[in-house]
Amino acid sequence: MTAIPAVSLAEVSRVFGPVTALAGIDLEIRPGEFFAMLGPSGSGKTTCLRLVAGFEQPSTGRIAIFGEDVTGRPPHRRPVNTVFQDYALFPHLDVLDNVAYPLMIRKVPKAARHAAAEAALERVRLAGYGRRRPGQLSGGQRQRVALARAIVAEPKVLLLDEPLGALDLKLREDMQEELKGLQRALGITFVFVTHDQSEALSMADRIAVFGAGRIEQVGTPEEVYQRPRNRFVADFVGSSNVLPPDFVENLVGRRRWASLRPEAVRLAPEAAADFQLAGRLVSRSYLGATVRLGIELGNGLALHALRPAGEVPPSGERLTIAFAPDALHLMEEGT
Ligand code: ATP
Repeated sequence: MTAIPAVSLAEVSRVFGPVTALAGIDLEIRPGEFFAMLGPSGSGKTTCLRLVAGFEQPSTGRIAIFGEDVTGRPPHRRPVNTVFQDYALFPHLDVLDNVAYPLMIRKVPKAARHAAAEAALERVRLAGYGRRRPGQLSGGQRQRVALARAIVAEPKVLLLDEPLGALDLKLREDMQEELKGLQRALGITFVFVTHDQSEALSMADRIAVFGAGRIEQVGTPEEVYQRPRNRFVADFVGSSNVLPPDFVENLVGRRRWASLRPEAVRLAPEAAADFQLAGRLVSRSYLGATVRLGIELGNGLALHALRPAGEVPPSGERLTIAFAPDALHLMEEGT
């Protein structure tokens, strides 16, 4: 028997006037998963999160949370909570009352809700900050207050809308680890929206890649990165070389689009079976430990290779690139 999904969407669509924000979404999120909704701006991921939260209602389809149909129910009658990108803290309330707010709405007595709020603050490593106002905190601390408030009423599913979007890069990286740690400790299902590929890849157990109102692929970070289903996923997730069907046909005899990760492109063959192609080095960007090389193959095709910084030949040089046949990933569809 398979477990009941934490969240399931069946043929869900959402139309705003002439705009189809989501079209026929089917999705199951598993209990305890750290799940990412990834996609470019306007692809419908925020709408999808808001449908699960109950801030929007679907035009068609059903939404269930742990097997219970919640379609049509308002947000406060769903076992979920949402952390908004701007945190939406009340500036006139201190941190403790901000965190205790969801329990106040539910008429939990003051002593009990303050005890729960203290415990939630401890979870996010903000014990002792209860008497401050949000304006007296750093961005990262405000983010943690928002998290504490979201977990205080023990939701079954926590929804996070670009949770780290307002933080600078260093803090973002720290918070990525902290969020993962919090999710593991709480054991509840986290669903987060992001347009940042590296954030989705590093944090999520599984990722749904959204494009223009549809889900293009659902899979683990390895699956969507190594085996993208189509050109959209290959282009959006990571930095693949996308190779056209006629080129691929010459190599492997099959007329399909294919992706080739730049780190799989080498500057010399390593095995007899490797494909070898003549090219010319036309660009290079140093990335620190690695260098990204632009290589023209002569037939109008260009590839990128990612090589260790020590390995780089001079620009303009003719060279032979090589890659293992299994580095070439044939995609299911061409669109
Ligand atoms: P972003 O990363 O920019 O937030 P997104 O992938 O989350 O993008 P959505 O916000 O879900 O995308 O929007 C999907 C589409 O639906 C867009 O074309 C958007 O303009 C439209 N849309 C979303 N909400 C509304 C609304 N309330 N009224 C009208 N159109 C809307």
